[in-house]
Amino acid sequence: MMVSKNNLNKGQNKKPCWVIKIGSALLTADGKGLDEQAIAGWVKQMAQLQNQGVRIVLVSSGAVAAGMQRLGWTKRPHALHQQQAAAAIGQMGLIQLYESVFQQYDLHTAQILLTHEDLSNRKRYLNARGTLREVLKLNVIPVINENDTVATDEIRFGDNDSLAAMVANLVEADRLLILTDQDGLFDRDPRKFSDANLIKQAEAGSIELESYAGDSGSLGRGGMLTKIRAAGRAARSGASTHIVNGRTENILLRLHEGEAHGTLLVPTAGRVAARKQWLATHMQSCGDLLLDRGAVKVLRESGRSLLPVGVTAVHGDFARGDMVRCLDHEGREVAHGLVNYSSVEARKIIGHASDRIESILGYVDEAELIHRDNMVVF
Ligand code: GLU
Repeated sequence: MMVSKNNLNKGQNKKPCWVIKIGSALLTADGKGLDEQAIAGWVKQMAQLQNQGVRIVLVSSGAVAAGMQRLGWTKRPHALHQQQAAAAIGQMGLIQLYESVFQQYDLHTAQILLTHEDLSNRKRYLNARGTLREVLKLNVIPVINENDTVATDEIRFGDNDSLAAMVANLVEADRLLILTDQDGLFDRDPRKFSDANLIKQAEAGSIELESYAGDSGSLGRGGMLTKIRAAGRAARSGASTHIVNGRTENILLRLHEGEAHGTLLVPTAGRVAARKQWLATHMQSCGDLLLDRGAVKVLRESGRSLLPVGVTAVHGDFARGDMVRCLDHEGREVAHGLVNYSSVEARKIIGHASDRIESILGYVDEAELIHRDNMVVF
């Protein structure tokens, strides 16, 4: 066996994946604690989408605001550690609520707390990615927030906008939906100018967009600027971003039906090209894997993952998560991708079937040496 059957994400039959980010101002009814009715409405739509074959990843803010309500605080404290404490307290309520509402639709949730550092560290990136992939495979809804106890990026600036974009990169989402209390991005602040025009569609990452961004609201940290930047980041792995009003009735279902709402920011290069570019520029290659003829054929023709059995030699010194090149027997580059095992581990498992990995190494991280999702074939 040369290839993995466990080829979850890529190929013709890949299910679409949506990262849905809901901001604090929406979730907490402008500061009056969690808006359970609104949350029930989004959950109902997400459950319906999940049943229709869309993989849903929820990025939810609202922990600080929910914690403030539990503590009876009416004003957001200035001290970061107080906001962090509120987040730790409020996160409990947030998760309790999501789990109980999703259960009405026979769906479970998984709490995933991440930081920006987690996703820039290759090992943690791969671990987070592996966990998320498994959670999605189990048909469970990941509910993601920043780990506010150990990081303050989203508390201070992002209101999870940038975290959501990083998650979109992580799961290689097709779409990032940013639900907000505005109708989208306008060319001027619509709260100040009645003649402001809605930007219906634009290229993510265009510099001009930033000049349209106004100030952020008082409750959530993220204004339009963080949303525009998030769209630019999400576009790198090929995701389009919708900035829409979360209060529009059945907004998620309507977007799924193809209705145009709010602002759509699309990757400049097109989804597939953007994703390939993202992988190609992700990092310098740290080593080479030499493939046998069968593996070369399978990568080129079947679009599957690379298993250890198809590799004849390992060159270089690399760690799990590093970029490596895959070469044919004449040294031509066939593909490159992010490797699941270090060079030391790879040398031990090459030439062997994946079900032998555990007996050779004493553990198994993944059946594939490079998962198809993490590979660009030339
Ligand atoms: N992670 C924070 C939260 O869930 C971000 C939003 C905020 O600071 O209000 O509350």
